Amino acid sequence: MDTTTAVRKGGSWLLEETAHADVFTPEKLTEEHRLIARTTEEFVVQEVLPALERLEAKDWNTARALIRRCGELGLLGVNVPEEYGGLALDKVSSLIVSERIAQAASFAASFGGQANLCILPIVLFGTPEQKARYLPRLVSGELVGAYALSESGSGSDALAARTRATRGPDGDWRLTGEKMWTTNGGFADVIVVFAKVDGEQFTAFIVEKGFPGVSAGKEEHKMGLHGSSTTPILLQDARVPASNVLGDIGKGHKVALNTLDFGRFKLGGMSVGGCRTAIGDAARYAAERRQFGQPIAAFGAIKHKLGEMTARTYAMESLVYRTVGLIEAWLAGGHAEGGAVAQAFEQFAVEASIAKVGGTETLDYVLDENVQIHGGNGFVKDYTAERYYRDARVNRIFEGTNEINRLLIPGMLVRRGVKGDLPLIAAARRLQDELLAPSSPAARLDEGGPLDEEARAAGAFKKVALMVLGTAMQTFGQKLGDEQEVLGYAADILIDTYAAESAVLRARAALAGRHDHAELHQAAAAAFTADAAQRVEHAARSALAALADGDTLRTLLAALRRVLKVAPVNTVALRRHLADATVAQGRYILG
Ligand SMILES: Cc1cc2nc3c(=O)[nH]c(=O)nc-3n(C[C@H](O)[C@H](O)[C@H](O)COP(=O)(O)OP(=O)(O)OC[C@H]3O[C@@H](n4cnc5c(N)ncnc54)[C@H](O)[C@@H]3O)c2cc1C
Repeated sequence: MDTTTAVRKGGSWLLEETAHADVFTPEKLTEEHRLIARTTEEFVVQEVLPALERLEAKDWNTARALIRRCGELGLLGVNVPEEYGGLALDKVSSLIVSERIAQAASFAASFGGQANLCILPIVLFGTPEQKARYLPRLVSGELVGAYALSESGSGSDALAARTRATRGPDGDWRLTGEKMWTTNGGFADVIVVFAKVDGEQFTAFIVEKGFPGVSAGKEEHKMGLHGSSTTPILLQDARVPASNVLGDIGKGHKVALNTLDFGRFKLGGMSVGGCRTAIGDAARYAAERRQFGQPIAAFGAIKHKLGEMTARTYAMESLVYRTVGLIEAWLAGGHAEGGAVAQAFEQFAVEASIAKVGGTETLDYVLDENVQIHGGNGFVKDYTAERYYRDARVNRIFEGTNEINRLLIPGMLVRRGVKGDLPLIAAARRLQDELLAPSSPAARLDEGGPLDEEARAAGAFKKVALMVLGTAMQTFGQKLGDEQEVLGYAADILIDTYAAESAVLRARAALAGRHDHAELHQAAAAAFTADAAQRVEHAARSALAALADGDTLRTLLAALRRVLKVAPVNTVALRRHLADATVAQGRYILG
């Protein structure tokens, strides 16, 4: 991969400037990456989509056969060392596979249950013996994997699990409890199960379905993802060998959290993949469907939708690729030894949560508009729009709900600031001095080169984020964690900030490289940033009004107005431009 991506710490984008040449983008994919994308796409179109009806009828032999095919194609072992049957490719490759497999959402869930939730924790935390025993057969698809963390009483509060592990006289473990919502539960062979040793020490275990006392409960009847298995896993004095503890006793939270960090990030990538597919479907439908004597794509209201779907997808795609570039640069910068891959995921946990929340909410927006563009046909099963809509809804619930991830985004940044890992507090103080000084200059409205104004706006969003975080820390101190609404506003600002800056940097790189469709990159980045400015202002005003009142609030709002002066842009024209190009090509045109 392109080695120009600089090594930076997670979260540092908030405090530092980034040059467009330093950012990884989809335009920098290598021929090998493109080959993986094509292989995955062909597999989905030629083998998974034709089998969807059988999957939705819960024919798990078909699911098993498709997982086996994934193994044959190498898709399950993208990030697995070669000695265990994997391909040992970069993280960009695994992002691409997640993104491209998303078109078949039910199967993407099964795939994720295997690759992201079972294979990955064994790669990260398994002993050499555990890796040798399980990985080759999981990577080939001979064995199906799953991950059982949630219980009926502990979902978001996962560490409150009640499943118990006690050591028998022979040294083996006995696990008792009931896990809920296990993806692939109905036909999995190997399950990463979380239980508390003696009711206290949260620990991960590798459990085989064939161990005595292990069974699957009934299939859940779900709103969507009908083609993926979701069941309870019942553990009735289940016997697990002493050697099957995954990671250390009492350190199960590390296994759970590191697995979820990368899983979340890849769910962001899957969401982008879902957006791309739906935009293509919507554009083709809008070109064909005629009302009032013309294609509905000719109407401004439909152009608005297609343009906005494209702009938001572009921003999310830009931030997901930028993040995987940062992770790769971190690993390549000498941080790839031992458990360092897990540490890299931890380092970019803020970005992973941003990708998860931003990606899944953009997907729901895009899929909702896709239904709307299809009119009545969007509401019936003859068209894919209906299934996409139902299948996507769960993305905001699993891999940490979006509420929990919204708390994590500012929460993790503040914690790193307090620990001195990121110079957040000093930056917030400097900004406060600058903003409250009587001579503080009003923001300039540039009339410079292309995207100068948008780049300046993204810089202003960072200042707003720091202003809200700094004021919140000052106001609530240690109790900030209890102020969820303020944290939610801060998260929204941070998501828009990272997305807008990523879009602008990518578009600038496209312009500088005279890339095909560079002017569409520019339009997407400009349309996204203009609307983001309004969202950032709304979130900041709401947060500040909860943090201060009277003269202090008036001073803060005056400072906000000075910082966030963004020149108006004709987003109607930008969206029309994007929509027309998307309809002309019949596909999402920018990735
Ligand atoms: C189709 C499907 C597949 C799944 N696959 C798996 C799997 O393979 N393995 C697995 O272990 N789990 C899996 N899950 C479970 C999933 O991870 C949980 O449903 C999820 O973590 C939410 O937990 P919960 O359902 O108990 O909701 P709750 O935690 O009860 O949350 C309910 C609501 O309260 C909010 N909330 C909870 N706590 C807080 C808080 N502290 N602050 C603010 N708001 C809060 C939530 O955001 C949510 O809106 C799956 C779920 C589904 C539906």
